[in-house]
Amino acid sequence: EALGPTITVGEILVEIMATTVGAGFLEPQSLTGPYPSGAPAIFIDQVARMGGAAGIIASVGNDDFGRLNVERLRRDGADVSAIATSADWPTGSAFVRYRPDGARDFVFNIARSAAGQIALTPAAEALVQRAGHVHVMGTALSIPGAREVILYAIETVCARGGSVSLDPNLRKELLTDDGALESFDKVLAAADLLLPSGDELLTAAGVSEEAGAVARLLEGGIGEIVLKRGEQGASFFGRDRPRVDCAAFAVAEIDPTGAGDCFGAAYLTCRRKGMTPEAALLHANAAGARNVTRLGPMEGVSTLAELTAFIAETPRR
Ligand code: ATP
Ligand code: MG
Repeated sequence: EALGPTITVGEILVEIMATTVGAGFLEPQSLTGPYPSGAPAIFIDQVARMGGAAGIIASVGNDDFGRLNVERLRRDGADVSAIATSADWPTGSAFVRYRPDGARDFVFNIARSAAGQIALTPAAEALVQRAGHVHVMGTALSIPGAREVILYAIETVCARGGSVSLDPNLRKELLTDDGALESFDKVLAAADLLLPSGDELLTAAGVSEEAGAVARLLEGGIGEIVLKRGEQGASFFGRDRPRVDCAAFAVAEIDPTGAGDCFGAAYLTCRRKGMTPEAALLHANAAGARNVTRLGPMEGVSTLAELTAFIAETPRR
């Protein structure tokens, strides 16, 4: 961490959730929210909450949806100096409803919201210049302005001896043009740490089974892969270290959204603080598990002390 803060670039959103389980939004229904959200925002909030130096390059509207997000990030200790406020565009939003099988229907307003206006402002440039690590959320690569900032940040931070992580959560619903996939390949080539969940591992490697995909990516230059398996826990694969598997903690799942973002943030922050992969994986599992017990994607972020207590008192699956 001595080199400088962990930064990320991408969408800040509010999330508004259906209060009933079912398919989509085709009829009037009751909703709850707004909750602070956006995968990059959840990630950076979790880094900050654990006491890691953290900053985000983002854009919100001049509205309450933007203000509630910026205030949360500020309160939790993130550097909000590179969050621009757009005079012309409203803060982005995501409406989400869970289906009975756990699948989710979304209505997104991201590319044509303030989040779509992300650019390399003087404040963003200043944050990049002092950063020590760049975390890339796949979701942000669907925003053309964000991808330019991301590629610039990677180049700048790597030139200073910094590092790069990638959560390849690029959803089909978010793909707007070919640029997203092109930039994805560039980020993957630069990544030191990859944090896929489920089939994202296979897609990133272009290989159809787990062991082969892991081998391909490690040969390609990625140092560490941490695979998220939902309620099956997670696994670590490293170029120079033995595999580690970690069973999930036994918790009652209330809202799974944001688990992967908290997990990744906790893993990275522990590693940047000098913990072993084993210890980082355990804390990451705890961060993911704690997050799913709260309604709202960013409501279940954890301090290091909360993770330590949770690990001590919670049985595993
Ligand atoms: P999302 O994109 O929805 O934020 P993800 O698909 O990237 O999530 P998951 O694998 O769903 O990531 O969750 C990340 C981690 O959180 C898991 O590896 C696990 O450690 C923890 N976790 C998630 N769901 C549960 C659960 N139901 N019980 C216990 N731990 C969980
Ligand atoms: Mg994910």
